[in-house]
Amino acid sequence: MAEPVLWLSEPDVSGEIRILDPHDGSALPAVPVATEQDVADAVHNARHALPGWRATPIADRGAALHRIARALGERAEAIAELNHRETGRPTSEALAGVMAGVAGLEQYAEYAPLHRASSLNGPSDALDLERREPRGVAAIVTPWNDPVAVACGLIGAALVMGNTVVHKPSERCPATGRMLGEVFAGILPRDVFHTLVGGPQLGAELVGDQGVDVVAHVGSTATGREIARLVADTGAHFIRENGGNDALIVDENVDPDWAAEQAATGAFTNSGQLCTSVERIYVTEGVASEFLDRLVERANALNAPGPDAPHSLAPLVDERLREAVHEQVEDALLRGATALTGAEIPSGSGSYYPATVLTGCSNELRIMREETFGPVAPVQVCGTFEDAVAAASEDRYGLACTVLTHSLEHALEAVDRMDVGTVKVNGVFGGAPGGAAQPRHDSGDGFGYGPELLDEMSHVKVVHLQAGVL
Ligand code: NAD
Repeated sequence: MAEPVLWLSEPDVSGEIRILDPHDGSALPAVPVATEQDVADAVHNARHALPGWRATPIADRGAALHRIARALGERAEAIAELNHRETGRPTSEALAGVMAGVAGLEQYAEYAPLHRASSLNGPSDALDLERREPRGVAAIVTPWNDPVAVACGLIGAALVMGNTVVHKPSERCPATGRMLGEVFAGILPRDVFHTLVGGPQLGAELVGDQGVDVVAHVGSTATGREIARLVADTGAHFIRENGGNDALIVDENVDPDWAAEQAATGAFTNSGQLCTSVERIYVTEGVASEFLDRLVERANALNAPGPDAPHSLAPLVDERLREAVHEQVEDALLRGATALTGAEIPSGSGSYYPATVLTGCSNELRIMREETFGPVAPVQVCGTFEDAVAAASEDRYGLACTVLTHSLEHALEAVDRMDVGTVKVNGVFGGAPGGAAQPRHDSGDGFGYGPELLDEMSHVKVVHLQAGVL
């Protein structure tokens, strides 16, 4: 008998992507993929559309973003439902992701015309000022785990600054990406925006095209490295927002029940498939035992059947990811970690994985050193807060971390010592609207969010206006 088909997210010879519904493994409708020629045509046509779009006043480009935001809002439920079916993300969270995309477009529409308007102090018979110009054709390559919000932010910032855009959504949510593209293309002038559905090979064709001026990649660290090599040959500006291995540090002066709630939220939300998920936990001895008991209780509650599903926790995006997550868990167990709950692939269909709590972990283990894109909370018990910070700071990623403490001194110590783009104190998620951060090391380079993304998507030209002498 033939091997069962577990995942199929690479384009096949028929030029289509077929993916399986992660809830039950049933086949979803095939989506046609773009060809190499489509890449060349999209980049060429986007360049052709550039002068007209660049000459459109920024306020009008912002008004176009507002219209796209409204159209996206009208189709929000349909897109969220597709996102749910293709990636397993709960519909309410998928809808929140679409509405975050709407908000991102609106923010850039309003903010971009005001961004960094500045003049310089020169002599009185001259004027020195800075003008922002688009970089050109932007290639935007996005992941599946928050496909609409991430894409809208990057595409909105690129467009409002006067760039034309070629977007390649993830092959793990091709229909979601295609529908999002229809919303943008339905409002923008011809050829200002293109969507190319396809897999990694198509992405490589796009980012390696000599006609591309700026590349933005949100996705895994391994892919970010590959794209960096391709972009080195073209000279395009490259913005890289990649994986994370975020630490949670639990001080001994906090309520262990609250700390467990924070840890569970950080490690299990979206079944652990967030770039800023809690990936490793360093808890001080004084609260460790109670913290672990409460964390296991929360994991067990998630592992019980849901109201109308075999599991409360949503499935992972596909079997390929489930295998990768389980392999890391098994490696940890082989090397001395203990599973307090979870750690077993459930029987039945769908790519479900249980909320898993591991103890006895150390930085020697792959599960502590590498991103685990699943609902796994590996815990190391540390003697003191200083030991916890020292262990947490040994990492090659640099996205974010969280410290739970009632001591301002300890909070500031973590801020100072953690070599990451964002340090969160007493809350695993959150942040001001429009916030940005600069990831470090293996987590990326450049600003993929916030007002600074408008800088990434534009060039500065300094203009010196001198009164003439007859
Ligand atoms: P991925 O890098 O595998 O894929 C992302 C996109 O890159 C897809 O569209 C894919 O087709 C494309 N791609 C793959 N190989 C390519 C190549 N050689 N050339 C050009 N394009 C290529 O990532 P993923 O699995 O879709 O997403 C999960 C990862 O994204 C996790 O590591 C997560 O932490 C990260 N992520 C980071 C952020 C952030 O802001 N830092 C946000 C969301 C997700």
